[in-house]
Amino acid sequence: MNDLEREKTEIPCPGGGRPIRTTYGDVARRSSIKSSKGHEYKFKSSDQSKLKRAMNKMSDLTDDYQKDIEKMQKKFEKDIKNAQEDFGEAFQNVLSTADVLLKR
Ligand SMILES: [Zn+2]
Repeated sequence: MNDLEREKTEIPCPGGGRPIRTTYGDVARRSSIKSSKGHEYKFKSSDQSKLKRAMNKMSDLTDDYQKDIEKMQKKFEKDIKNAQEDFGEAFQNVLSTADVLLKR
């Protein structure tokens, strides 16, 4: 179960009563959901399959995005470290190779 499946949602009571509190996962997986008054949805499994696929797609995209971010973060850390070293060296180099004039 991914995060989206655990996410809470409310669906309208099919009998016009108070909304039913449930999760996206329950809507995708349970064959039926009832309100407190016994008003019931019986879901079509083929439509639930589509919902599951759509949720998995969102979850996969989010995972891929996270991995890409981590990869970019690591690359940036490596690149900036090298650039900082080059900077430090170049800076010291400007000083160490400069002609020095000392006035008396
Ligand atoms: Zn109801």
